[in-house]
Amino acid sequence: MNNIRNFAIIAHVDHGKSTLADRFLEITGMVKPGEHVEQLLDRNPISRERGITIKLAPVRMLYRLTSSRVNELENNISQPVNALTNKQNNDFFILNLIDTPGHVDFSYEVERTLGCVEGVILLVDASCGIQAQTVVNAQKALEQNLVIIPAINKIDLPAAQISETKKQMVEFLGVEEADIHEVSAKTGQNVEKLLQAVIEKIPPPVEIDSVTGFPQSNKIQSLIFDSYYDQYRGVVLFARVFNGELKSGMKAYLHGTKTELEILEVGIFTPDLKSKENLKSGEIGYLVTNLKDIHEVSIGDTIVDKIDTSPLPGYRKIKPMVFASIFPVDTNDYLHLKKALEQLYLSDSSLEFKLTYSKALGSGFRVGFLGLLHADVVRERLEREYGLNLILTPPQVKFLEKERQFFEPILKIKVITASIYLNDVMRLCQNYRGKFITMDGKSQIVLIYHMPMSEMIFNFFDKLKSVSSGYASLDWEFLRHEKVEADMMTILLNGNEVDEFCEIVVKERIRQRANYLAKRLRELIPRQQYEVKIQVKYKGKIITSERIAPFRKDVTQKLYGGDRTRKDKLLEKQKKGKKTMKNIGRVEIPKEAFLKLFKLRY
Ligand code: GDP
Ligand code: MG
Repeated sequence: MNNIRNFAIIAHVDHGKSTLADRFLEITGMVKPGEHVEQLLDRNPISRERGITIKLAPVRMLYRLTSSRVNELENNISQPVNALTNKQNNDFFILNLIDTPGHVDFSYEVERTLGCVEGVILLVDASCGIQAQTVVNAQKALEQNLVIIPAINKIDLPAAQISETKKQMVEFLGVEEADIHEVSAKTGQNVEKLLQAVIEKIPPPVEIDSVTGFPQSNKIQSLIFDSYYDQYRGVVLFARVFNGELKSGMKAYLHGTKTELEILEVGIFTPDLKSKENLKSGEIGYLVTNLKDIHEVSIGDTIVDKIDTSPLPGYRKIKPMVFASIFPVDTNDYLHLKKALEQLYLSDSSLEFKLTYSKALGSGFRVGFLGLLHADVVRERLEREYGLNLILTPPQVKFLEKERQFFEPILKIKVITASIYLNDVMRLCQNYRGKFITMDGKSQIVLIYHMPMSEMIFNFFDKLKSVSSGYASLDWEFLRHEKVEADMMTILLNGNEVDEFCEIVVKERIRQRANYLAKRLRELIPRQQYEVKIQVKYKGKIITSERIAPFRKDVTQKLYGGDRTRKDKLLEKQKKGKKTMKNIGRVEIPKEAFLKLFKLRY
């Protein structure tokens, strides 16, 4: 155990975590420089294409310290590391790295990662300075009592502002200036020293009883931090062993559900799965089990050997924040969609879904997401990985309703911006019904606002980027529900309510929403044989309406000449005919109209 180091790289999105991981993999000989794709650990095709990490990714590396370095470290090392005294055999270190996503929607992945490691490298891009997730992730690591190794990345860039960034790190992250590493993940400059600092500064794992806090090794406790469903192998669990040893052929239990399972295989990440005889205390690896039902596993549960062994602390449950309905374009794909969602759920336990039915779109699911990027990624994964063609309704937040009063979810948002954009950023927050709370800092300013979630999901992030020329960053967390004047906005097409377009809207926004929706629908619904009336109803009143004129067959054409009254009579007759059609007929909305309408909100 003394030769194991479990660590993660945390940073704001794009600050170079996955690139740094590439260099570590090369230094440790896992891959050869120039013979692998960039950001190797981003294996998901959507990650690759969008250039962002959406899943945590573990990898195990072996690293040998040179004897001279061992001597050097012996004098510095803070932990009593016996390994360093026996230079012949024990200068090999097992380094378990978990690469994490940096986008706020996926901060739960970071939390899970932090539960499995003893320390982190906190990376800051020298050309951007600290940004919202830098601060938030650093705070999370501190809460977990993890060792933090601060590092400035991209020092090779001409725009690198090393001393300015250092100042910010000292000011906002509470790190010592002398402890900050300066690296380039791209060129590899100083990267090996950083890896050695991991060995030097981050303590090895110890067996600790989760109840008493004392060392303990006569029982098995492993934390499940991720999982996925493999078509051939069934459920594959990612686990950090805290106590005991896991072996293939062993029986064990999932503590939460009291499910018995048999371990069929254990192994490590290279980053591909590589089987191994056992996983011992302090190690991070995977296990293949005989479980076939994905619902039996939950992330954060503990694998134990005896059913009465106490569990590890696990993770806080997270709640989805935005909701949308998903329908297959081809209604025959419904079962296929159901299965796909169930499988996705296993590697993404934040997903929540239940059956829903729409008259226009058939059977589908009401799905809860962590945020808009999450919704978009899930849609894309369903379409790509499962070959589905889907319609997604506009994401909405969930209002609570008690005795005809509405309560809306309020977020605490953190915006970090350079001072020159401060005025524009503050004006923007105000326009989004944000309530100013605090402000801190000189050149980089940290702003805290309370903002309704229903506002934030309306392109707030895009607008923030545009008023700050791309430099301001955003993080948010749920704060509480607050009472607000709101009601259901109902859309009527020829007098019939269309559920798919109804949503709860706060009074302050109703004009805007109603006009927008009515106009869009008028553009998107094609002309029909009869008139289509679009109405928006709010608090019992029609507040906006639009109409789509019918095709008009020229019934008078065959009446050459003729007298005026005959012509009028005919027109009258035609009008009546249409009137009955309008009342009994249903408006046909093509699916493309839904697709177009729903696309726009991204
Ligand atoms: P992540 O989102 O934190 O995982 O960031 P990535 O590793 O995906 O890197 C984001 C971008 O920054 C990529 O285009 C990298 O090539 C680039 N990058 C990462 N490290 C460096 C560096 O040290 N110098 C320069 N110039 N670019 C870097
Ligand atoms: Mg990455």
